[in-house]
Amino acid sequence: MRKNISKSGKTELFAPRTEEHEIPKGKLGLVFCRECNAVYYKKSWHHNLRYLKKLRENLPVKFAICPACKMIKNKQFEGQIEITNIPQKISKELINLINSFCKRAYGRDPMDRLISINQPKNQRQSASLIITLTENQTAVRLAKKIKQTFKKATMKISYSSSPSDVAYVKLEFRI
Ligand SMILES: [Zn+2]
Repeated sequence: MRKNISKSGKTELFAPRTEEHEIPKGKLGLVFCRECNAVYYKKSWHHNLRYLKKLRENLPVKFAICPACKMIKNKQFEGQIEITNIPQKISKELINLINSFCKRAYGRDPMDRLISINQPKNQRQSASLIITLTENQTAVRLAKKIKQTFKKATMKISYSSSPSDVAYVKLEFRI
């Protein structure tokens, strides 16, 4: 069941993913995502056909929605990082780090995406950010990278219970 309301009662823009990644059938053919430029072949999604050797002319072609686009469409996520108490002087650098880290992840895997960076409202003086991603491991790696880069932060990771595997990371700056 999709959860759209968090424990604190806040309405979340995206909900934890509960569905399994869908692997299209048709191993011999190509599947093009209708939403993005991803192409499915050789059991995974790629940015293009670059690595597909020996492209047969009569390959069956299908159109579908890739798992990442589907997750975004369904307003779901697999990784969430909540960053609190962000010092003003690093906020720009932090956003840049998040964007470049996620850009590299997407470059390696078209299913690995940054969904959103939100600034929660009704916060007290200190700045916070909520980041949602399509891959739980990328969320954990990104959070570790932030902690390593800016040093003064504490990190807590929790996972939602099986069969869902959504990672929740809490990063709090200590200054
Ligand atoms: Zn797509």
